[in-house]
Amino acid sequence: MTLDIQKIRQDFPILHQQVNDKPLVYLDNGATTQKPEMVINAIADYYRHDNSNVHRGAHTLSDRATGQFEQARETVREFINASLTEEIIWTKGTTEGVNLVAFSWGLENLSAGDRVLVSHMEHHANIVPWQMVCQRTGAELVPVPVTELGDVDMTAFDALLDERVKFVSMAHVSNALGTVNPIEEVIRKAHSVGARVLIDGAQAVAHWAVDVQALDCDFYVFSGHKLYGPTGIGVLYGRQSLLQGMTPFMGGGEMIETVAFEKTTYNRLPYKFEPGTPNIAGVIGLAAAIRYLSQFERADIQAHEESVLAYAVERAKAVEGLRLIGQSDHRAGVISFVLEGTHPNDVGTLLDQQGVAVRTGNHCAMPIMDRYGVPGTVRASFALYNTKEDVDALFTALEKVKMFLY
Ligand code: PMP
Repeated sequence: MTLDIQKIRQDFPILHQQVNDKPLVYLDNGATTQKPEMVINAIADYYRHDNSNVHRGAHTLSDRATGQFEQARETVREFINASLTEEIIWTKGTTEGVNLVAFSWGLENLSAGDRVLVSHMEHHANIVPWQMVCQRTGAELVPVPVTELGDVDMTAFDALLDERVKFVSMAHVSNALGTVNPIEEVIRKAHSVGARVLIDGAQAVAHWAVDVQALDCDFYVFSGHKLYGPTGIGVLYGRQSLLQGMTPFMGGGEMIETVAFEKTTYNRLPYKFEPGTPNIAGVIGLAAAIRYLSQFERADIQAHEESVLAYAVERAKAVEGLRLIGQSDHRAGVISFVLEGTHPNDVGTLLDQQGVAVRTGNHCAMPIMDRYGVPGTVRASFALYNTKEDVDALFTALEKVKMFLY
């Protein structure tokens, strides 16, 4: 079935405004997606009617908040097809998820002589935590090269994969290039040498259905705000057997069973990894975002987004002086480019003046920008509410930018 995109757009109030006296064309979904009324209302309703702390109150509001909070965990479990609800841990976002695994798993399991592999196209969130843990443990962080087209060089990956590799951490989809990585193959091969695998799904979960059991990954992390949900909430999925063996990364209330000055014992999963008062409204908003998405066939969303992306690539290729950064055959949601002789920031500012919102810069992925010898790119990134008309608006505006800058 084809989606009624105009109807979908009505669900997103923010899209219907003028920016710099032009209709807003929002193409910065790689930075964050917009929120449908359903999410905005779920958060407002929670604060209006149910606001209370979870798991501790002896009163009705707390019971209601706790009920919604734990139901949301089940909603996420189903969304990524984890086998157990306790395998779903709330985080602030992808960044915290990677840090949690790097510090909790890495500090105890890595030592000198071990290697952690990441791809050259990772977001800083999937580089820096590993670097920090490698510095402390003496393990080595090794980037897997990326080909000119923007794919992980799987021949190089195969050559790097030996018994020294204890962990592989890789993006499902690159936020800087849009490349969809062959993570099934990566996971299978990494497991064959006994390595554990984390998949950074921040740029993937909004685009298609993810099944962590079918993927057979050990950890999968993502952020609510790139899934039409609120900021400040994210998910770490971890295999129960691994989470059970890991020492918490942060201590505090909620994550304990008993506390004495001599010894503290930790709570059961998932609470062991959730110290302090959580982002309750964020959790409820994220569940609403998942419910919003589940009205649609995920395959329809994917097909729509693929057609918008294919159209954007086609139009980009026709622009003289435009160099696409990343041209993998396996791409989702993103075009990244530079305009000959111009700085991406200038292009971004001039597009904004015409109502077109894109992101410019290094996209928190400096190593891959260096790989291509560019300081940054202009990135247009798409969501389910974007249309080919949005793409046309981008390229019409880009022609004006060229007239201005050339
Ligand atoms: N990894 C990828 C691939 C991302 O796209 C992002 C967000 N742009 C992150 C990690 C970091 O996510 P957050 O800032 O929500 O923690």
